[in-house]
Amino acid sequence: MIKTISASLALLLGATLAQADDKVLNLYSARHYQSDEALYANFTKQTGIRINRIEGKANELLERIRNEGANSPADIFLTVDAASLAVADAWGVFAPVKSKVLESRIPAHLRSDNWFTFSTRARMIIYNKRKLKAEDVPTYESLADPKLKGLYCSIPGGHLYNLTWVASMVAANGEAKTEEWAKGLVANLARVPKGGDTDQIKSVASGECGVAVSNSYYLARLMASEKVEERNLVKRLGIVWPNQNGRGTHINVSGAGVVKTAKNREAAVKFLEYLASDEAQRYFANGNNEWPAVPTVSISNEELEELGKFKADEVSLVKVANQLPAAQKLLDRAGYR
Ligand code: FE
Repeated sequence: MIKTISASLALLLGATLAQADDKVLNLYSARHYQSDEALYANFTKQTGIRINRIEGKANELLERIRNEGANSPADIFLTVDAASLAVADAWGVFAPVKSKVLESRIPAHLRSDNWFTFSTRARMIIYNKRKLKAEDVPTYESLADPKLKGLYCSIPGGHLYNLTWVASMVAANGEAKTEEWAKGLVANLARVPKGGDTDQIKSVASGECGVAVSNSYYLARLMASEKVEERNLVKRLGIVWPNQNGRGTHINVSGAGVVKTAKNREAAVKFLEYLASDEAQRYFANGNNEWPAVPTVSISNEELEELGKFKADEVSLVKVANQLPAAQKLLDRAGYR
């Protein structure tokens, strides 16, 4: 009798635990924006699956997944930058996902077999209008022109945004040409590379630098700033969508994949499919002034509308990611630190 009761109890508990398990999805996220709250709440409303978010820097989360091994509670790894997705992939963090929904919604150049991207940002050229004209800097290649000596400012060479950008240059122009170009950039530096994209924008506005590249959302953020001095500094800037007569402007992404050891694989795939839905795409992109990865989804964002339309480079991000090691090596050789 006692045996039967404890057996039933075990069954019951087991069932309860499994059920509880099914209702929670563990999301390891290196992307944190306020508007993402609504995004996750809507998923729970639609599916009954709660999102348990573990936030941190991409490399810390990847270390954690690696240390947790087969017991890792992580179901999804969500991050920004194709380089970060590529690192996760190289570490064997992701399991391949086959999904008709994702394959039909996300353009082929914005996904791999193991990860999918859900928003895009552009790397734009920003210059000081008193120092330069748009014609001086029409392409990324033009930034290495010796006439820009002492004008170029940059984030550190090994920063992921810079690495992915340079990898896209290798994909377009080859390694040797890109190394020559990187040497040209180093020769044009106004100062030792430091800080983030916003720091470069502000230094271009102040005149300490003449030109820099930046992710588009940092500019949009300044345009929409509550601080009048930030909105004012934007007025001193000229904006170029680079390489419009060629391959188009370099695009980077936010994206995610299902973790190989995921305990809730089905729910994890469901969540990725949800991220590709019209409603989630709007939240996901707009929350950080990015563009939806799904081309049929449009958002209304005053700052992005003001920046206008442009031609984006449609090279496969997998092809770009494959050039990351070459990019790092040539930057080192060029002394771009
Ligand atoms: Fe950023």
